Amino acid sequence: MKETELEQYVCSLLPRVGINKLRELTRLVYEICKRERVAASQVLQPSENLTFESAKKALLQRRYPINFKTASKNQFYLPKLDLTSVAPADLTPRPFSPKTVYIEQSVRHSALAQRAREFFPHATFRETDGKTQVGSHDFSQRTETLLIHREKYDFLKPCPCSCGSAGCGYNLINLGFGCRFECEYCFLQQYQNLHAVLLPANVDEFLAKIEQGVFRKGPFARPRIGSGEFTDSLVFDDLTQYSRQIVPFFQKHPQWDFEFKTKSVNIGGLLQAGGCENVVVSWSVNAQKITDQVEHFTPPLSQRLQAACEVAKAGYRLGFHFDPVIIYDGYQNDYARTIEEMADTLPKDKIAWISVGTLRFSRELKKQIESRFQTNFILDGEFLLDFDGKMRYSEQQRLEVYRFLLPLLRKTFPKAVVYLCMEDPQIVRQF
Ligand code: SF4
Repeated sequence: MKETELEQYVCSLLPRVGINKLRELTRLVYEICKRERVAASQVLQPSENLTFESAKKALLQRRYPINFKTASKNQFYLPKLDLTSVAPADLTPRPFSPKTVYIEQSVRHSALAQRAREFFPHATFRETDGKTQVGSHDFSQRTETLLIHREKYDFLKPCPCSCGSAGCGYNLINLGFGCRFECEYCFLQQYQNLHAVLLPANVDEFLAKIEQGVFRKGPFARPRIGSGEFTDSLVFDDLTQYSRQIVPFFQKHPQWDFEFKTKSVNIGGLLQAGGCENVVVSWSVNAQKITDQVEHFTPPLSQRLQAACEVAKAGYRLGFHFDPVIIYDGYQNDYARTIEEMADTLPKDKIAWISVGTLRFSRELKKQIESRFQTNFILDGEFLLDFDGKMRYSEQQRLEVYRFLLPLLRKTFPKAVVYLCMEDPQIVRQF
């Protein structure tokens, strides 16, 4: 049933309720129908005694069976249902092959610009002064445009973390913006205004800024610096070859740890650069149901673990991020199976750290996900507005995840630092 039909159906049962109340009920009916795969008539039936209050109470109870009694009223987020203002994601498999490549004049002779000409012989190449508006209207078409530019301002910063969360003393360099993978939960679909892939050609300037930097250490032995906030650190590495500049730099600077964060198996550059003990290559890992059904275009878990073994053999240390953990029926068995697969495959003494974080998202991102991935199951959980304005599972459900995963990970990988990511300090203190 389309959203307008759903609204008409609810209106036919409660013709006197105002528009805002009607929208709240429509959203609840929609979310229940989607999760339970039933028709609206099985969720809300005509009744002589039906009022807005009774309908809303019954629907909230059914939509939030775990948290209905304990959550406060303003934690339920019930905006107007709007599935049509954002186009559905295009999930047709395709190689990364931009139709148009923009190159800023100041980096027209860079090695990256030269490689792009070799990689994409059929693309249209245009020079830009850096002020031209580039990119597609549709987020799904972002990989059709590549912009190679010179970064001027945003070189190095402390990880912004989430307002009010416990920080882990991380420092970031933003080597690129935009990704060719299509994870349903990715915050870029809501955050990225410019629907294109942006890659800086002046990595040397990033490294020079690191040399001048003063870093926080957090709970780790050495300060950590990482890339991969606005893109996957290695997904374009065959083109960018950033790893071949970054690894030699950190070979000379053993006082810092550098982390590549990836879901890709694009490790050729790392293998050629030779190993480095203070470079940690981290993979995002998850239950196989999530890697297969939610992280579109990404390599399967087994391939990620295989790539991890190869880089460990080459002399790098490893990191893993169980992030985002997603709760669904049987999730504990599936996550335990992933940990078992990791234990059977990986050299345990090479694992530097493992983080765990549950799915969280802004209100705006929720709307993007439900429009772009209309058959998603990741939003079927019970998400409540939380301490920082983001939507999260309730504290009780998050604690259940952490009480299960953290002891299991610490027992399986006793030498790794296992920590929580972007979590309420009160929760972090318990682990
Ligand atoms: S790999 Fe990371 S950056 Fe790329 S789509 Fe997935 S979540 Fe987003």
